[in-house]
Amino acid sequence: MTDLTPTPDRPGLHISKSSPNAPATGSAVCHCGASATATGDAQVHRLVQGWEANHGSAHTKGGTK
Ligand SMILES: [Zn+2]
Repeated sequence: MTDLTPTPDRPGLHISKSSPNAPATGSAVCHCGASATATGDAQVHRLVQGWEANHGSAHTKGGTK
């Protein structure tokens, strides 16, 4: 599953949670060059929100690069 970790060649957002009791981990790499990682459910939640607001598909929606 670690092969799904995004890289600059394959940008994207990847969240994993190995078990219900384990903290979620997330990593994101954007085609604009930004990258971020987070560990913990709350931190991953913020990562996803910020990513969707500023990166990923937001680049095409917002019209700014
Ligand atoms: Zn971006």
